[in-house]
Amino acid sequence: MATIEWRSPASEMAVRQFEIAAERLNLDKNVGGRLRRPDRALIVSIPTRMDDGSVHVFTGYRVQHNDVLGPFKGGIRYHPDVNLGEVCALAMWMTWKCSLVGLPLGGAKGGIACEPRKLSRNELQGMTRRYTAEILNFIGPEVDVPAPDMGTNEQVMAWVMDTYSQHRGYAVPGVVTGKPVDIGGTVGRREATGRGVVYTIIEAAKHLRMDLAKCTAVVQGFGNVGLVAAQELAALGVKILGASDSSGAIWNAKGIPVNDLALYKETNKRLKGFPGGEGISGAELLELKCDILIPAASEMQITDENAPRLQCRILAEGANGPTTPEADEILSEKGVFLIPDILANAGGVIVSYFEWVQDLQNFFWTEDEIRNRLREILTRTFQEVQSTSQKEKVNMRLAALMIGVKRVARAMLWRGLYA
Ligand code: GLU
Repeated sequence: MATIEWRSPASEMAVRQFEIAAERLNLDKNVGGRLRRPDRALIVSIPTRMDDGSVHVFTGYRVQHNDVLGPFKGGIRYHPDVNLGEVCALAMWMTWKCSLVGLPLGGAKGGIACEPRKLSRNELQGMTRRYTAEILNFIGPEVDVPAPDMGTNEQVMAWVMDTYSQHRGYAVPGVVTGKPVDIGGTVGRREATGRGVVYTIIEAAKHLRMDLAKCTAVVQGFGNVGLVAAQELAALGVKILGASDSSGAIWNAKGIPVNDLALYKETNKRLKGFPGGEGISGAELLELKCDILIPAASEMQITDENAPRLQCRILAEGANGPTTPEADEILSEKGVFLIPDILANAGGVIVSYFEWVQDLQNFFWTEDEIRNRLREILTRTFQEVQSTSQKEKVNMRLAALMIGVKRVARAMLWRGLYA
């Protein structure tokens, strides 16, 4: 993404990762020139009536990176730091993620620069509906299918679905995924990302001959991904030593009772002050000695600055882009086993795909079917990435990117250039 409009630390990092994979694949130069930038990037103004009667204009984005494999797919993020460059990076990662796990979907991402926790329900709804109206002609079940991401949830998806449906004149559940089950959502979507992280950790532990019941874990970020991953790991007997959110981090060498922590977070809206552990800084948390570290917050948390001090055996990326390419090299040399984001957190979009398929067919699956199919795809993909990593003598990140990029490039070469 060399073009200035979307230059940002995150987009430069995403392009850097892509270039490393492209070089190793000896990728067609023309295909490479296209893939380093998005298909389309929209910036929209979102006038929103605030509770005090004033109108606040938020800035929103929808970036569609590539749809050669199928309709664009990707979440909508509500966070103060959202900007065009970040959304471009996240859209590119979605392209590789969908491709890697074999979904017939492309990569996109959206977002609004806002502080969702400071908005009332009315303000959030107004902002969401106007954002949807602004991008209405660019989304749809065959075009681009949004989903939840950081700061959004099933209620936000319900408003997107309703706004889109009102404009069409009939119910269109397939326009978004991550909806409530009552309006065409799927069972198991909320848990899917965290559960998927744990399925890939189970495979990594088998590969490394580690007994999970004797392992410890640390989780950065206690949102939908981190919380579910911690709960699922605890259910397997893993001791959770630490967890954090934007308010701070909690640590307890004897282990944190995850369900108590979840309850505390639900009641107090933050982890800070939880009586079952000691308060530490977010930076200290990442450097705790543990078997499994799960960054499940935001991008570029593990850099060349702190990577040398990491003490985990497995790094499972629940977040998108938590580790910089410089940190990747340091961790590789240290022998940390990396489960890269586009594999570790792909459970979310996999179950989103299941939801989309169910909506298109008006035929719904059981939770067992969802769980088994999710596990099957992630286990198969883990093995594919792992064997590519061994065969090509590259780390797990590069192996995953090589598979993802190659599939997209092959499809582009088949389809050719429309001129
Ligand atoms: N926001 C999630 C991700 O980053 C899910 C996207 C989706 O379900 O479409 O993978």
